[in-house]
Amino acid sequence: MSLQYSLFFIHRFKGKVLFNVPMRDYTSFRIGGPCDVMAFPQDEGDLHDLLQFAEAKDFPLFVLGGGTNLLVRDGGIRGIVVNMAEGFGDMRWEDETKVVCGAGVGMRSLVMECADRGLTGLEFACGIPGSVGGAVVMNAGAYGGEMKDVVEGVEVVWGRRKRFRGFLSRREINFSYRRTELPKGSVIVNVHIRLKKADPGEIRKRMREYGERRRATSAVGFPGAGSIFKNPEGMNAGRLIEEVGLKGKRYGDAQISDVHANYIVNLGRAKAKDVLGLMALARDMVYRIKGVVLEPEIRVVGED
Ligand SMILES: Cc1cc2nc3c(=O)[nH]c(=O)nc-3n(C[C@H](O)[C@H](O)[C@H](O)COP(=O)(O)OP(=O)(O)OC[C@H]3O[C@@H](n4cnc5c(N)ncnc54)[C@H](O)[C@@H]3O)c2cc1C
Repeated sequence: MSLQYSLFFIHRFKGKVLFNVPMRDYTSFRIGGPCDVMAFPQDEGDLHDLLQFAEAKDFPLFVLGGGTNLLVRDGGIRGIVVNMAEGFGDMRWEDETKVVCGAGVGMRSLVMECADRGLTGLEFACGIPGSVGGAVVMNAGAYGGEMKDVVEGVEVVWGRRKRFRGFLSRREINFSYRRTELPKGSVIVNVHIRLKKADPGEIRKRMREYGERRRATSAVGFPGAGSIFKNPEGMNAGRLIEEVGLKGKRYGDAQISDVHANYIVNLGRAKAKDVLGLMALARDMVYRIKGVVLEPEIRVVGED
């Protein structure tokens, strides 16, 4: 790492900076080679410095939420990984039903707080791991609910001096199935969420039901990243993979779960290349036998 690179952080950055960090320690898959630098901005000032620095030096930058929807390749990530987990943890209630939530807040904390306050709208998300920022980017969803149903807009920061900070409305985010369209290079710092008042007993009941359904259908017992592929229109990706006979198929320590075929699990020391091999096999067989193209839901990043 260049001296200049290090000096920047020593002089200007309030948060922690780590070098040569194994990404497997920061992903739910427990897979991934090292990133050059991992920086933990404490606030928007830190984030601003980081974005401008990366842009000025032409260093690539990757934003990490909870790392629960990621497959990091075995060669790791070049440049700077911006870990949002240590700053951006505030929840500010603007009125009885509206919260402005830091992107680094855990989804679990937000869901529990809303239930405690008798607010409905996020029950679907109980059991979805990761951060609020990551959930917006992925338009995370389950049981008929999605983040787009409750998000009014996001505050984002990006590197170009001219338009350093802005608010994007729900319409501008352009949510679709497990997808959003944010301007390239933007980092979500706050999420504006609107919920509705409801009977706390009913909210808890729905959360319990969803929790039981989740345990019954996706308790795979090993590290993973949730669903690997999106469900094709009107179909179920797991069922398609199961029907082509791949349930339980294993490459190295990576296995197509024998509980839920749209999950790939890490049985111990799985490599990204093993997971990618299983993904390629599933896509190929489902296309050849069923004529259906599977599109990945997980984000694959880094170098081989
Ligand atoms: C056991 C398990 C169950 C799951 N169940 C579900 C489910 O039911 N439904 C579902 O939709 N998903 C599910 N997932 C997948 C995953 O939890 C969600 O997609 C989650 O919302 C990702 O959030 P994260 O913070 O971990 O994002 P990450 O994985 O860290 O990042 C995902 C993407 O968002 C970007 N990003 C993260 N934070 C920011 C930010 N602040 N600004 C800009 N970009 C950002 C990253 O660069 C990356 O491209 C599951 C995963 C696991 C492991």
